[in-house]
Amino acid sequence: MKPKVYVTRIIPEMGLDILREVADIKVWQDELPPPREILLKEVENVDGLVSLLTDKIDAELFDRAKRLKIVSNYAVGFDNIDLDEATKRGIMATNTPGVLTETTADLAFILLMSTARRIVEADKFVRAGKWKTWGPMLMLGQDVYGAKLGLIGLGRIGYAVAKRAKGFDMDVMYYDMFRNEKAEQELGLKFVELEQLLKESDFVSIHVPLTPETKHLINEKTLGFMKKTAILVNTARGPVVDEKALYEALVSNKIAGAGLDVMDPEPPNMDNPLLKLDNVIILPHIASASIATRTKMAVMAAENCVAGLKGEVPPNLLNKQVLDKMKK
Ligand code: NAP
Repeated sequence: MKPKVYVTRIIPEMGLDILREVADIKVWQDELPPPREILLKEVENVDGLVSLLTDKIDAELFDRAKRLKIVSNYAVGFDNIDLDEATKRGIMATNTPGVLTETTADLAFILLMSTARRIVEADKFVRAGKWKTWGPMLMLGQDVYGAKLGLIGLGRIGYAVAKRAKGFDMDVMYYDMFRNEKAEQELGLKFVELEQLLKESDFVSIHVPLTPETKHLINEKTLGFMKKTAILVNTARGPVVDEKALYEALVSNKIAGAGLDVMDPEPPNMDNPLLKLDNVIILPHIASASIATRTKMAVMAAENCVAGLKGEVPPNLLNKQVLDKMKK
């Protein structure tokens, strides 16, 4: 008997093929995530689960999933998984770090530049038939070249954004839990406290995971430190930013603009006032969405899952304490 695996959405075929070699797989076919009741029912008889950030993997789910050995998340972020509850039950959890770093950093930089130079607004302007002539005062924005960039979180993606910024001769500072002296030397970065970063940066780009500590890290108070001309970029997770406070900061000209790949909730309610602002770009959480990267994520998620099913240590195990639990 092959083990059983449930995959909560259609992911690139290369990943599904790897799973099929060792397991009987069932893939949820709809564009939207499986409704909670269906997910809870499906996990009852599976040994492996390939989940997405839209699936809440918590104690209630683990209680139903008596055979579950491994949850393989198709994402680097794993704020959708209750790791402590997984560990308690001897269930392994994995993610897909590294393979999406450069693609995500590309998008952070695209958002930074597009917001600075009002690219989406300018495109809409042309299509609306408003372009009458070359205008000396038309669509003036902010310079990127030589500007000051503040990175909140200097992990894999933050570092990759810093590399791009150096190509634009930007002056890059960062705030993180720990200093990274190697990165400082390699790229000439400066470690500063959050308040100083917010006060001095022309662009602030967020690259921390969503945790209880980072939830609403960007709020009324911290937005208040930013320059009137500054632009905020968020490709991390929506709840890191307090959206009400962001809206207030934008409409009262406390900051100049925002580029958001992530929202809270996703998708945003259509009456979210941020959707009405021209100086905000909002994307549907597509930072890792290149064909090559999504394929690599599928392969990585599948390989993690297969390792877990075979009782091996998956390459990207998140809850290492689970190994002690499994030995007992
Ligand atoms: P990473 O390598 O783990 O980097 C995160 C960095 O943030 C680490 O240096 C971490 O420090 C630091 N950090 C954690 N908590 C902090 C805090 N409270 N204050 C200051 N710094 C803190 O992760 P990554 O691969 O760069 O990914 C970062 C996040 O981006 C992911 O968690 C995910 O949510 C998001 N993401 C979004 C997309 C998208 O599609 N929009 C795509 C990929 C990733 P320690 O290492 O010391 O904990």
